[in-house]
Amino acid sequence: SQDTDSVQSNAPKMLKRVARQARPTVAIIGRPNVGKSTLVNRLCDAGRGGAIAVDEVGVTRDRVYQRAEWCGRVFDVVDTGGLLFDDEESDQFLAEIREQASLALRESCAVVVVVDGRTGIVRTDEDIAAFLRKWPSQIETVLAVNKCESPEREPEMVADFWPLGLGEPLPCSAIHGYGVAEVLDAVLPAVDNAIELRRQQIEQLDAQEAIPRINVALLGRPNVGKSSLMNRFLGPGEQRSIVSDVAGTTRDAVDAELDVDGAIFRFVDTAGVRRKARVKDGTETQMVGRALKAAKLADVVLLVVDATAEITDQDAMLAQRIADDGRACVVLANKWDIYEGKDEGSTREVLKVLRETLTAVSWAEVVFCSAETGQRCLKVYDAVKRARESHHHRVSTATLNEVIRDAMLWQPPPATAAGKNAGKVYFVSQTGIAPPTFVCMCNDPKAFPKNYRRFLERKLRESMPFTGTPVRFVFRARR
Ligand code: GDP
Ligand code: GDP
Repeated sequence: SQDTDSVQSNAPKMLKRVARQARPTVAIIGRPNVGKSTLVNRLCDAGRGGAIAVDEVGVTRDRVYQRAEWCGRVFDVVDTGGLLFDDEESDQFLAEIREQASLALRESCAVVVVVDGRTGIVRTDEDIAAFLRKWPSQIETVLAVNKCESPEREPEMVADFWPLGLGEPLPCSAIHGYGVAEVLDAVLPAVDNAIELRRQQIEQLDAQEAIPRINVALLGRPNVGKSSLMNRFLGPGEQRSIVSDVAGTTRDAVDAELDVDGAIFRFVDTAGVRRKARVKDGTETQMVGRALKAAKLADVVLLVVDATAEITDQDAMLAQRIADDGRACVVLANKWDIYEGKDEGSTREVLKVLRETLTAVSWAEVVFCSAETGQRCLKVYDAVKRARESHHHRVSTATLNEVIRDAMLWQPPPATAAGKNAGKVYFVSQTGIAPPTFVCMCNDPKAFPKNYRRFLERKLRESMPFTGTPVRFVFRARR
């Protein structure tokens, strides 16, 4: 049990999809009537030479985003307005702001605090400043003193706001457009940082997306522990984001991706496995039908059996389906934690039974594991990787022909029923992968009975890494 899942830096991480097109966001905050919406319209106008058109207004939840462009940078401006209350109700305001403004701030790289230069500091301004000073993460703060239209009064209007402790107060007039450029200039470094960060993330995630997925499905009789294993593999745990153009979450509910030390496992149709555990909908036949369909889509099927129960015809039938579908396979002998009277020979004994009953996947690795304790669950990942490699393995033609020639010398094919031509193979070549497929050009396919074909496969497996994958032999008469 020393190889139980533990918290470690290279522990598998579940991949979460995030939208690729997200732009940096700048939040606008301030009490009512200081001119936030006027300023937002101004900010979003500025780059377009003062054109009034406000295109592309997106409403997400309660917040309104508008697109701004400044010095070639594109970002969203979100007005947290409409969420604030009057000065007298500042307690209520604080409660509300935590809920709504926090959502907006959390996704923002900068925040513009708008105050009214004509009224000077009021209590709510101080509340907002206190709230922002306590903000847990790095967020650039710009203080815009709005309604500064009279140049002669400006210096004193601005000076009034230094005590807020939010940095240099920048005078502006949203209505007239004065000072707006300076406010935009002040948020620019934060926007640039956010854009650069995003670029790096996307680059990283693009590289990740380029990694071919290993499609994995769980198959097994009811109650062998499929959903328990799935939960063991997929979470809880740290989630790592992945960028995707796929909108929505429909796909996520069905397929889950796991980053296992750089190899990405896609668990096909997790909903099918997980849902069953929650609500017993659909008949068992429907379940099996759905599971078999998922297995067909997989590169590697995890055939789960209950190591503490008898291995049945149903288990054998599922094994046969995996082999017939040409899928790679790892057998999980689950519930090993509660195997009765376990001793040194137990693994060997159970393995023997599994080999005798699951003959169709005799080439599959068997991992004795426990979804309950996590015992050897990490070993499953390596077995899956090996099976996937075998499934895609290519053998050189020279090696292939040498192996088959040696095998036939060692044990020639039996004479045919007709008693004439003994089987001869002229040439073997690998024509495909997943599963590896070999075409044997011969004198007469009928001269190679089933058991002799099995013998050739066994010899091939003895000299090559085909653990975990079925292989196909096709015999063709050379004309
Ligand atoms: P919000 O509640 O903070 O979004 O404020 P609004 O943008 O709705 O503006 C509140 C009031 O202040 C409106 O009557 C605006 O016309 C006015 N206002 C906005 N900006 C300025 C400005 O720069 N100067 C002056 N004098 N009034 C402004
Ligand atoms: P499924 O029908 O194949 O999805 O099986 P479940 O995951 O629902 O498990 C069936 C029952 O077996 C549940 O009561 C699980 O708690 C239990 N179980 C699953 N895996 C293990 C295991 O490794 N050890 C033990 N002791 N119980 C397990």
